[in-house]
Amino acid sequence: MNSVDVVVVGAGQAGLSTAYHLRRLGFEPGSGFVVLDRAPRPGGAWQFRWPTLTYGRVHGMHALPGMELTDADPDRPSAEVIGDYFAEYERAFDLPVLRPVHVRAVRDAGDGDGGLLVDTSAGEWRARALVNATGTWDRPFWPRVRGQELFRGRQLHTVQYQGPAAFAGERVIVVGGGTSAVQHLLEIAEVAAATTWVTRRPPVFRTDGFGEVEGRAAVAMVEERVRRGLPPRSVVSVTGLPMTEAMRRAREDGVLVRHPMFAALTPDGAVWPDGHTVPADTVLWATGFRAAIDHLAPLRLREPGGGIRVHGTRVDRDPRVHLVGYGPSASTIGANRAGRAAAHDLRILLTAPRPAAAEAAVISSTWR
Ligand SMILES: Cc1cc2nc3c(=O)[nH]c(=O)nc-3n(C[C@H](O)[C@H](O)[C@H](O)COP(=O)(O)OP(=O)(O)OC[C@H]3O[C@@H](n4cnc5c(N)ncnc54)[C@H](O)[C@@H]3O)c2cc1C
Repeated sequence: MNSVDVVVVGAGQAGLSTAYHLRRLGFEPGSGFVVLDRAPRPGGAWQFRWPTLTYGRVHGMHALPGMELTDADPDRPSAEVIGDYFAEYERAFDLPVLRPVHVRAVRDAGDGDGGLLVDTSAGEWRARALVNATGTWDRPFWPRVRGQELFRGRQLHTVQYQGPAAFAGERVIVVGGGTSAVQHLLEIAEVAAATTWVTRRPPVFRTDGFGEVEGRAAVAMVEERVRRGLPPRSVVSVTGLPMTEAMRRAREDGVLVRHPMFAALTPDGAVWPDGHTVPADTVLWATGFRAAIDHLAPLRLREPGGGIRVHGTRVDRDPRVHLVGYGPSASTIGANRAGRAAAHDLRILLTAPRPAAAEAAVISSTWR
């Protein structure tokens, strides 16, 4: 069995930021910490995003700590740009990322030594602490609707979206109120026979700038839910939809017109509560994601409300475990800060005698 101080699960923005800070704080790559990632290549979830999501179209990607992302071609897929950048980052800072390694379960070692056992597709690790940085991409959320199994067309989720070509000539219903839904809709409308945009709540378009004040307010909203032990909403979901020139045009062209949620799917399309129907060949669910944390289930970290309560990044129910890129830190800037906070907290927790845990808690709560 492999033995380390800290196992970091996930090598996206949050995991790499954590690894960078652990390294700076003196944890030895390999013996002091490892990063385990199930994906085949560097890039975190970015490597799986659709090719038409070019780097110029992502909104507000923050560089990882210690190395800028310079001279990126805005017309290149973000999957490639960020994949290359993360690969270079891992090399530059000599970060011990092992892939593909799927973490299947984390449990208490149960031998009174305070350790954790990390069960993976590449064997077992024993760790004194764990930083979970697994994002959300591996847990797409598909709402359940009446008639879903009767629909004879195709149903896809954002995770399967590979660009508009597959929708040429089709009648497509796009479900979801986030940026991904809008981007899919605008692309698909160029080639489809017809598109219908459906959201549960009326979308909030932002025409004002989205600055630091608004960013902090959005984070605070997510944080409040997590503090109450509820499952987090994504930060992006509380920021509203920034209105772009392309969106303005799509509105004028009648593409970006929102319809309320349908009552059910039928074999040939969707039906609304007032009885009107829209025929469809494909329903594209751009309905978001949930935290990919099933492997933490044996630790019983969840509150009765279904969420995991954290103090900063540290889990209330188990101080050996930190969640980064979770809830309020689920943005590239949040992930950077959370990684730093978790690393500092763990250094204190693992290198100092017990009373230092109180100091660690203070640092961990200041990740913002
Ligand atoms: C379409 C889309 C566009 C976005 N655009 C932006 C943007 O422009 N700006 C912004 O700030 N944020 C954006 N976000 C949010 C953003 O992606 C994140 O905040 C940030 O990149 C997530 O980093 P992360 O490290 O938390 O997760 P991820 O990048 O998802 O990395 C998680 C890693 O963990 C691995 N993993 C998962 N489960 C396991 C397991 N059990 N065992 C081992 N490894 C595992 C995954 O393979 C992955 O490599 C976007 C999100 C989406 C869905």
